[in-house]
Amino acid sequence: MEALSRRNLIVGDGLCVHCGEVIENGDHIFTACRLAHGVWCGIVAWLNIPPMFDFSLKDVMQVIDYMDGSTKKKEIVYGILILACWRIWNARNKKVFSNGDLNVVRIVADVKSMGFLWYRCRAKGNVIDWKGWCSSSWS
Ligand SMILES: [Zn+2]
Repeated sequence: MEALSRRNLIVGDGLCVHCGEVIENGDHIFTACRLAHGVWCGIVAWLNIPPMFDFSLKDVMQVIDYMDGSTKKKEIVYGILILACWRIWNARNKKVFSNGDLNVVRIVADVKSMGFLWYRCRAKGNVIDWKGWCSSSWS
């Protein structure tokens, strides 16, 4: 909304479609909004990684720089972070264009299930099963 406003394209009040508290911009959608915060809390709990203190999208992507684990685990977590951003953006667009529901639990569940399917389709060799994926027990 902020980017559209800079281009003199006025769309509604420009406020965040989830919280309605501030002008919507990328950093708010992906980090500061309560919706994003809830999603990141769910992702952190699932992946058992250190809490995220993110103020920008760049901060989200740098989480892997501060976590322990193998290169494989960091690649998987990085993919999950990208997927979570896409899912947050997708939920926001569904709210804007078809009055869809913005539900943190649903978004985290979708990230888990879509991440598992995408990982299994791309993985070579020893592929993790659903139970292992849900317990984030990849090495
Ligand atoms: Zn918001």
